[in-house]
Amino acid sequence: MTMQRTFSILKPDATERNLTGKINAVFESNGLRIVAQKRIRMSRLQAGAFYGVHKERPFYQELVEYMVSGPVVVQVLEGENAVQKHRDIMGATNPANAAPGTIRKEFAESIERNSVHGSDSLENAETEIRFFFSGTEIVG
Ligand code: ADP
Ligand code: MG
Repeated sequence: MTMQRTFSILKPDATERNLTGKINAVFESNGLRIVAQKRIRMSRLQAGAFYGVHKERPFYQELVEYMVSGPVVVQVLEGENAVQKHRDIMGATNPANAAPGTIRKEFAESIERNSVHGSDSLENAETEIRFFFSGTEIVG
């Protein structure tokens, strides 16, 4: 187990329903520290580039439109084994398949409007953090 940082987004369905505090409480009670956080409105360019890995998937365009449809909260979370821990706390992509007690089971509206994003590897976490934050914005 090692200290890690991962990248997280509270998606438009979460900000719309005023769930940012509830979701952050789940992170904090599971030992993840919010070491950077800002509420932003993503541009289409940003959202398209961020989800570029999904460019060929049928839901890509709709996903980009969804991510720019309202404010999001981008975050850096720090903790032991943070990348995998965050993924475990979020639950499966489709809330119908997410385990009880996970954020997506508790809060997600659909496979698309699933409340949270989390990096899927340490390497992607570093890339995604750098995409949204400068070093001085992260305070551990
Ligand atoms: P995860 O967020 O669990 O890592 P993916 O990386 O596969 O999942 O997908 C990125 C995001 O794209 C998902 O969180 C969800 O918002 C959206 N998405 C994934 N699959 C679908 C789908 N079949 N239909 C619509 N949106 C989807
Ligand atoms: Mg993913």
